[in-house]
Amino acid sequence: MPEAIERARALLEEITPLAEDCGQVCDGRCCQATAESVGMLLFPGEEALPMDEGFRLQPAEGGGTLLTCAGHCDRALRPLACRMFPLFPYVGEDGRVRAVYDPRGWRLCPLVRECAHVPLQREFVRAVRRAGRILMEDPACAAFLRQNSAEIRELDRLTGLGEERPPIARRRP
Ligand code: SF4
Ligand code: SF4
Repeated sequence: MPEAIERARALLEEITPLAEDCGQVCDGRCCQATAESVGMLLFPGEEALPMDEGFRLQPAEGGGTLLTCAGHCDRALRPLACRMFPLFPYVGEDGRVRAVYDPRGWRLCPLVRECAHVPLQREFVRAVRRAGRILMEDPACAAFLRQNSAEIRELDRLTGLGEERPPIARRRP
């Protein structure tokens, strides 16, 4: 497993989007099997990590590996995508890494839909951005981030959501 993934995962070991458990608001939707949630895409090489016994791996449609789970897991083993959700370390066309709301989580996550009204913890936003910068040091992870960022850009272009979404979480008033 690339060392960059280990470092990125460690940054997001404890910090969460809100100070309180956001799963209490939505009943932990991102951990449930629903029509909107098809699983989490692993970062390149992440599949080599120790797995929770409820994890299942399968090839993802667009390439890479998709992890599905039993709806609960040993927190220490959760993949990077779960640690960063609902943000993603977006790589702009200028190569700059920013933490942005992932438009692919719009249907699933109330924090994405209510981003204008529910600020996230600044430490969480910073940790996602820092994780992205670390991941850019690894060529395979950098390619993965660029590919996903292009997808996010295209979705934003099609839906216009990028215009409405602040690029990073806001400060608490
Ligand atoms: S769907 Fe969003 S609000 Fe609900 S638990 Fe997941 S990250 Fe939190
Ligand atoms: S792996 Fe864990 S954190 Fe990720 S969706 Fe499944 S139960 Fe939730």
